[in-house]
Amino acid sequence: MNTAAPALGKKPLKANECVQLYFDRAADQIGLDDSFRRLLKMPRREVTVEVPVEMDDGRLETLVGFRVQHNNARGPMKGGLRYHWDVDLDEVRALASLMTWKTALVNIPYGGAKGGICVDPRSLSRKEMERITRKFIDQIHEIVGPDKDIPAPDMGTNAEVMSWIRNQWEKYHGFNPACITGKPVEDYGARGREEATGRGCGILAFKLLKRLGRKPSDCSVAIQGFGNVGSHAAKFMHESEFKIHAVSDISGGYFNAEGLDIPDMLTYTIKNGSLEHYPSAEKISNEELLALDVNMLVPSAIGNAIREDNMHSIKAQVIIEGANNPIHPEADEYLYKNGVVVLPDILANAGGVTVSYFEWVQNRQYYSWDLNRVRQQLDSILSSAFEEVWQASNDFNVSLRTAAFILAIKRVKRATELGGF
Ligand code: GLU
Repeated sequence: MNTAAPALGKKPLKANECVQLYFDRAADQIGLDDSFRRLLKMPRREVTVEVPVEMDDGRLETLVGFRVQHNNARGPMKGGLRYHWDVDLDEVRALASLMTWKTALVNIPYGGAKGGICVDPRSLSRKEMERITRKFIDQIHEIVGPDKDIPAPDMGTNAEVMSWIRNQWEKYHGFNPACITGKPVEDYGARGREEATGRGCGILAFKLLKRLGRKPSDCSVAIQGFGNVGSHAAKFMHESEFKIHAVSDISGGYFNAEGLDIPDMLTYTIKNGSLEHYPSAEKISNEELLALDVNMLVPSAIGNAIREDNMHSIKAQVIIEGANNPIHPEADEYLYKNGVVVLPDILANAGGVTVSYFEWVQNRQYYSWDLNRVRQQLDSILSSAFEEVWQASNDFNVSLRTAAFILAIKRVKRATELGGF
């Protein structure tokens, strides 16, 4: 049976094909045989459920929800829940497998999963969102839990949604806050979880620059996205003296040649809900932001931000993938050939799941860490993973992405062999 990912070019690859292609590039380097490739690519379980829900106006709406459990060789499966209009089985499948490689790469005791509901969260009231969430958990509660599969926030979901999930799951199974991570701090959440993904991007950007022999104060940055990931990345990078010249959110891009006042922009977003009409910057489009003449780009919004049709406009020499799957493989190959250093998503945004792991550990011990401890442990885990990836990329003479996949695949393969089939 042919399990290889399709060749580059021709028809645009779907999200899962993109991940499989990255997988195969790494698998080729370590001579992984076909039977293992098939085993490690295929998800363990895919669940599609209907989510019937009464809307505020009395209408009955039937949404579709997914949970894909990709691999559990290294521990319970782990991954976020995404509420977005683009969510479909293929995307969730791709994101679930990325979680397997991400948790293996940072060496935390989990496998990978992902879930989502195809819905525009901006069109929902808070009550509708709660009803949808509870109904979804009614449908999937048997297959998730602290020792099986632990959901967490992703695009379109937040700490409050996690609290509803805990409450709904516990109605069936009894008290156990470790059934979900990314909860509010006052509801068994971990200090530092909310900032973790963005902070992790910042920590890793710093490490990468150091390896490249450059200083943050000489590094100009554009950040696509000012949500949970982008805003915390901007905050950390600003505090670390990077020069941030552009950020964007749902309302568009904002540029300042002198550098943006990030603390002011954070306050503005909290007050106004978005950066719309932010006064101290020039308005630019998302495409213009990606094409800016800056040293570093941090795509931390959507998948497929950098593709074959816009890859030639990229001028940055370093890209930190805050989002999952932001670069399409054609563009990835082009950028690599042109000397652009890409820090891949499975490392760059692994800070979130790493602090989710700390939350799960604290919940299981009924003990709570202070913020310093969380930040120190996060730094230590990400630093080790970064050094390993850097080393592997030199040893194999491959991109950081392929190096990251090599390390992750080796770990999952080893766990599979040790556990037996
Ligand atoms: N959704 C996040 C990710 O893609 C976090 C997952 C988690 O904390 O389990 O990594």
